Amino acid sequence: MHCTEAGKTLIKFNHCKKSIYGFRVPPCCPLCQQEVGSAKLEEAPVSISNPFTDGHQEKCSFLLRPTQGTFLREYDGKSDLHVGITNTNGVVYNYNQRGVQRDEAGWEQSLSVPLVQPNMFGLMNQWDKYLEDFSATGAWLPHRYDEDHHNCYSYTLMFINCILTTEGKPQLDKNEFTEKYVIPRTRLASKYITLHRAIEEHGFYAIDHPDQETSPP
Ligand SMILES: [Zn+2]
Repeated sequence: MHCTEAGKTLIKFNHCKKSIYGFRVPPCCPLCQQEVGSAKLEEAPVSISNPFTDGHQEKCSFLLRPTQGTFLREYDGKSDLHVGITNTNGVVYNYNQRGVQRDEAGWEQSLSVPLVQPNMFGLMNQWDKYLEDFSATGAWLPHRYDEDHHNCYSYTLMFINCILTTEGKPQLDKNEFTEKYVIPRTRLASKYITLHRAIEEHGFYAIDHPDQETSPP
């Protein structure tokens, strides 16, 4: 494991009619070299939170990470993703060609979606048993694995659907699952990764017309 860094908070401030992103607010604007004042409220810096979390610290959650490498270093927006579900101790259950894996490490830089509301004690109490029983079924034996049709997504989606059924809620199909659980997180991650890499390389990242911004990253 060469990189377990989970990323940092980024700062955005306005100067020279641009939005400028960095790891901190510099004393001088990197474009015009003038002092960065805090005279106007609309110029006050805003922090952009880091979308990644240590998956082993998340209970009863759906996790995503690149199959190879990490988001911050290797992910290019098209890389294969691997997904899993945590138990109440941060052990990540995930399915691959070797069957169901119970990982206690390797998910330190993940995108996470909580699956249980904090007040659902009944479900939380049963969670580890549900996950273990579900994983022990024959559906998840190694020889059943198929890269396109019976994979890590199939495993997590079927488990989430079992939970939804238990709660008396309608099931999700594959497209709804992707739209609800996967795309919003990977979109957020891609924006953050672009900013993070540019700032690592150049020290800052500037984009035009902050005034007309309607969707902050
Ligand atoms: Zn400036």
